[in-house]
Amino acid sequence: MPSNVELFLRALGRHFRADQLLVNKQALSLYSFDASPYFGQPAAVFFPESTQEVANFLSMAAKFKVETLPRGAGTNLSGGTVPKRGQVIICLSRMRHILAIDWEREYAVVEPGVTNLELQRAVEAKGYMFAPDPGSMNVATIGGHVAENAGGMRCVKYGVTRDHILGLELVTAEGKIFRLGKLALLDGKYAINSRVNTANLVDLIVGSEGTLGVVTQVMVKLLKKPAAYKTLLCSFNDLRQAGDAVSGVIKAGIVPAAMEIIDQKLTRAIDDFVGLGLPRDTQALLLIELDGWEADLSVQMEHLMQILHANGVTRVDLATDSKEREQIWLARRSVNGALGRIKPYYMVQDVTVPRHKVATMIQKVEEIGKKYGVTIGLLAHAGDGNLHPHLLYSDRERELPQIEAAAEEIFQATVKLEGTLSGEHGIGIEKRPYLNLVFRPAELEFLQAVKDAFDPCRLLNLDKAI
Ligand SMILES: Cc1cc2nc3c(=O)[nH]c(=O)nc-3n(C[C@H](O)[C@H](O)[C@H](O)COP(=O)(O)OP(=O)(O)OC[C@H]3O[C@@H](n4cnc5c(N)ncnc54)[C@H](O)[C@@H]3O)c2cc1C
Repeated sequence: MPSNVELFLRALGRHFRADQLLVNKQALSLYSFDASPYFGQPAAVFFPESTQEVANFLSMAAKFKVETLPRGAGTNLSGGTVPKRGQVIICLSRMRHILAIDWEREYAVVEPGVTNLELQRAVEAKGYMFAPDPGSMNVATIGGHVAENAGGMRCVKYGVTRDHILGLELVTAEGKIFRLGKLALLDGKYAINSRVNTANLVDLIVGSEGTLGVVTQVMVKLLKKPAAYKTLLCSFNDLRQAGDAVSGVIKAGIVPAAMEIIDQKLTRAIDDFVGLGLPRDTQALLLIELDGWEADLSVQMEHLMQILHANGVTRVDLATDSKEREQIWLARRSVNGALGRIKPYYMVQDVTVPRHKVATMIQKVEEIGKKYGVTIGLLAHAGDGNLHPHLLYSDRERELPQIEAAAEEIFQATVKLEGTLSGEHGIGIEKRPYLNLVFRPAELEFLQAVKDAFDPCRLLNLDKAI
């Protein structure tokens, strides 16, 4: 007798074009992983082209009681799109239209498969930007940003995805379509909905990691690009000094757009990879970018230099033009590509501590690396306390248990410092076993009840996040 999944796939075959459904085993293996170390073969991949197709797909899946999960570009680092239970993937990559841009009210409405880069390119000529800028922005989708509440380099000053979403359209696991927040469609035109306030529901969906519904349209805020930038690459003899400099900057009330720490291992790997002539002998690089009006920046620069010197900076390279600024950013954005020069595999952590505890956390990470004999490359969106220790390894079978043990100790150290497991990469599969470090059982039950309210039959992206 055919299984539910087989019956479902047959039904899909009758409703949709053949090129919208992938069932070939070899091709499916391309969807068995994301940017995390996990794998799981999907039963099939479906490519919808409209909200209605998403709704039809999900209501059919509910009827056949078949599990599904949404996927954007598959760049998440926590296993959020890995079909561990053999689910059918709903891949939003063909829903890639920018539906509206309203320059006066400063918003855009986009489909979920639009990449961050596509959105930036569509608005930059008019002097606008979409503030979230994860390292993966060239390929990651806005739907994926919403589901992960993605951050990025600029989030010290501009906040994370949640701060830039005005409204969205959601299809529930049962195939019902809702518009939430300020997203409205009046006489066929997108408009700001000021009648009903469902902004809190938008907040609930942002960061829910594809467990509560499939996002099919997103209304994003557009911000005017800053008039001027000061971009500095600062060298330190000690990682902790760089961490202390970050705390000093924050304490002084200066709010840079970005403050990123890169350790020596990663600096050298990047330099080998892109050959930019980075200071290879420095123990820690601190990339700082100030943005705003030129006159304000000069005053901030004076204070900033005092703080850097007070914390032992050994060298400051200031970008003198936009080309040099781009090169500094190229260095930062090349980290992940460069990692392979050290070891072939990595597991990246995303722990976040109060900003004044960044230096202490850096020290803890170093100690844990030594204790477990694990090579750790440290990168940090230090300005918002978000550390990315990259745990590097060569032999999956042999070294993974050691890596996971070191990761667990990093989580424990974070919680002791009043931090949290994830600043921006999500819980996914990876951090699920450690949720009890930060939530009590009753709180986890409450989160499950929220999930059940949206997905009563428990079919959407199960065993992730909660
Ligand atoms: C090199 C590199 C650098 C990175 N840098 C950063 C960084 O600086 N900051 C940061 O925050 N993240 C970063 N990331 C992580 C990742 O790129 C982001 O989380 C990104 O937003 C994921 O987008 P995506 O389109 O790849 O989503 P996917 O990986 O496809 O999906 C992510 C999650 O969202 C769900 N999902 C996807 N689309 C939808 C939808 N339409 N509706 C509902 N749920 C959906 C999925 O089920 C999954 O749980 C980085 C990743 C890499 C590989």
